[in-house]
Amino acid sequence: MGSSALLVKQVSGGIYARAELLYTILPAYSQNAHCRPAWHVPRVACRVPLPQEDAAFTLPPILTFLGHFLPDRMTLSLQGWHLDETAAQLTLQVTTRARVRCPLCQTPTARVHSRYTRTLTDLPWGSYTLRLQLHVRKFFCDHPACARQIFTERLPTVAAPWARRTLRLAEHLRACGLALGGELGARLGHRLGLRTSPDTLLRLVQDAPTPAATAPQALGVDEWAWRRGQRYGTILVNLEDHQVLDLLPERSADLVAHWLTQHPTVTVVCRDRSALYAEGIRRGAPHAVQVVDRFHLVKNLREALEAFLHDQRPALQAAAAGTAQALTQVAGSVAAPPMYRGRHQSSQAGQQRQAAAQQQRHAAWVATYEAIHALRAQGTPVTTIAAQLGISRPTVYAYLRRTRPPSPRSPQRSGQVVRPSMTYLMQRWREGCTDSMQLWRETRALGYAHSARTVSRFITRLRQASAAGWAPETQTSPYTRPQGPSARAVSFTWVCPEAKRAQDAQLYMDQLTHADPTLAQAYTLSQAFLALVRERRGAALVAWMTEASASGIEALARFAQGLQEDLTAITAGLTLPWSNGPVEGHINRLKLLKRQGYGRAGVGLLRQRLIQAV
Ligand SMILES: [Zn+2]
Repeated sequence: MGSSALLVKQVSGGIYARAELLYTILPAYSQNAHCRPAWHVPRVACRVPLPQEDAAFTLPPILTFLGHFLPDRMTLSLQGWHLDETAAQLTLQVTTRARVRCPLCQTPTARVHSRYTRTLTDLPWGSYTLRLQLHVRKFFCDHPACARQIFTERLPTVAAPWARRTLRLAEHLRACGLALGGELGARLGHRLGLRTSPDTLLRLVQDAPTPAATAPQALGVDEWAWRRGQRYGTILVNLEDHQVLDLLPERSADLVAHWLTQHPTVTVVCRDRSALYAEGIRRGAPHAVQVVDRFHLVKNLREALEAFLHDQRPALQAAAAGTAQALTQVAGSVAAPPMYRGRHQSSQAGQQRQAAAQQQRHAAWVATYEAIHALRAQGTPVTTIAAQLGISRPTVYAYLRRTRPPSPRSPQRSGQVVRPSMTYLMQRWREGCTDSMQLWRETRALGYAHSARTVSRFITRLRQASAAGWAPETQTSPYTRPQGPSARAVSFTWVCPEAKRAQDAQLYMDQLTHADPTLAQAYTLSQAFLALVRERRGAALVAWMTEASASGIEALARFAQGLQEDLTAITAGLTLPWSNGPVEGHINRLKLLKRQGYGRAGVGLLRQRLIQAV
């Protein structure tokens, strides 16, 4: 040994070494590794503590120390190591020391039949991959009555039978697969030093043990879209602990009924308003209380209101003009500055092209409307209509709620890209700056990344508003457009709690309900229903339904009539605390998982990734 070994002393058959020396010696040994494996097998390794040293940092015998990092140090015993620097691989020689019992008759035995070697990959140590060379024993079973004569010792805490990797490595890989799926999981694994293939990860995820069976009492059932409008599945969530219980590949009464018969502990089921799930629950859990989710009730009310508002176009327009005036009173108008002539005006031909395209779109809507109503009159089911016309079921329902074809709408520019800069542009407009090119340069300096034309279009709108005597603020609100907001947009504002409405939305609702007694009545009625929902006063539902039926507002009367068909479950929904909020949350998560799989993940994989929490 060279000078570096000065501190290594041979004392009574053992090597006494300092920690830093061990590390300087190790690479020296491994340089010869390619020609002959150099197994480091110190018989004893410990150190005499130096005086005045911190007791917390004393060095334990090196093998005992390294043994702490083995998968299960009660079962495995470290015998030596070999470090291959070129391959960045550390191999540990390990034997087993567990007491062994015959797996069949449970008799303890010590008579060894033979030994063999298993190689397992373990979690990497720093930048080194780690292999365990495991010497496993085979034993005789000496019990005279036992059918088994020879058996191999099991290592249930280290690795599965036949596995090439330790349990803890498999656990890490599975976590990658569950969180990210095959491809992404494998890529992350590589970064973390866990080399694997996407297929292996998927296999690990598929084989993940199902969590211990729970006995759910409150269940949430809802549909989820495999492909929107074409194929749906069913999701089942425990409403008590918010965990996903199962994912069914279809939206069918049979599957739900079958699942419920296997889970007899369920006493409450929260669902949407579909007759299909109602029937499945009735068959599978006849004694369970069915609860209609409140979200779906509000959704149905909003849809009824949208249908009602489709026929109120003049009132919607008048309210928009009223809102523009009210906003102008609040914000104050600005006199229109002189128009700068000579800028490029939008061409006549372009406008004609847009009008023609709009006409074509409107003709298609009318054709769809007529086709749907004709098919429905013949008694065709909604699902069939949707499939025949290549549209989604919700669209079919939306058309069926209409009593006349949709009206043509003039194209609207949403102004989405310019929206973040609107406040600045209006402030500059009020200061007297009306040159759109100048304003574009200014907004660009503030981070606006879109074209000058978009800014110019907004400035034109401000100019037109000024000419009409309106405040610039009217141009940022969808409630002040000359043609009025869409019936759909108004219906959403209508069911939104007043405390959550923006100022312009509230001004619009005031204008709308003050002008027309029918609209005012519809508003009062629907607010009364929303109060029942929010305050959970199911007992008052029947009285509300009577009032709505007698109101003369057809859309609301029809809505009330619809409630009658499912009255028990709806009253339960307006009385009990259960709701499908947790289910909707999981459906959103499911959408993310579906997209991570690029649409290729099957129901088995989605189910595992949804149920197994990482
Ligand atoms: Zn035996």
